[in-house]
Amino acid sequence: MITIKSKREIELLRTAGEIVAKTHQVLKEYIKPGVSTHQLNNIAHDFIISQGAIPSFKDYNGFPGSICASINEVVVHGIPSKKQVLKEGDIIAIDIGACYKGYHGDSGWSYAVGTISDEDKKLLEVTEQSLYEGIKMVKPGNRISDISHAIESYIKPFGYGIVEDFTGHGIGRDLHEDPAIPNFGKPHEGPILKEGMVICIEPMVNIGTKRIRILKDNWTTITQDKKKSAHFEHQVAVTNDGYDILTVVSNKE
Ligand code: MG
Ligand code: MG
Repeated sequence: MITIKSKREIELLRTAGEIVAKTHQVLKEYIKPGVSTHQLNNIAHDFIISQGAIPSFKDYNGFPGSICASINEVVVHGIPSKKQVLKEGDIIAIDIGACYKGYHGDSGWSYAVGTISDEDKKLLEVTEQSLYEGIKMVKPGNRISDISHAIESYIKPFGYGIVEDFTGHGIGRDLHEDPAIPNFGKPHEGPILKEGMVICIEPMVNIGTKRIRILKDNWTTITQDKKKSAHFEHQVAVTNDGYDILTVVSNKE
């Protein structure tokens, strides 16, 4: 069931989203060679708590971390670990969720560790832009797959693999709500967007094959060919005439 959020609920989701965006800003400064994903996890955890929120991912279906930290060929759901230390030339996708007064914020972003190759830079740029191409389709009357199609159409010419096993989603009191938002597909299908819906759009894009494999820890998702993968995600409210990105830091302060 797709829920429509009230103005009050959207403001709570905006606060949750802003906490997530601020956590990304804090973490970004620490993404350097020599830092472990365990350290990043703890910095994010403490910051989220300091903002009066709770890390949404901690213990979600048994997930052990407070963030997901997915290095290089890890697509999503990387478990933070002391053994995972960032190296020059890595790329890392950090996914962060924060629950504020019962409402969730969720945003993922991929970062370069030091200097990265041109090939990896391009992957990050194209995946980030595909997110915004999807967001541009958010307005009342459009359908969910208009978002999906815009993402796929933008990525296709680059020849990358678009992950099909995971999708974007609605969000609110639950971290994952209806509808699912695939990152590929024909336009004009699926539920119609309405004012008050809040959704997460999150393309996951691989340099090589779209195919993935889940490791024995039941979380870590890697590309089958071990080529690199990027992930970008924003949480967006449908407004009366378009969209409002909630996982950003507002200029009010
Ligand atoms: Mg999400
Ligand atoms: Mg996420």
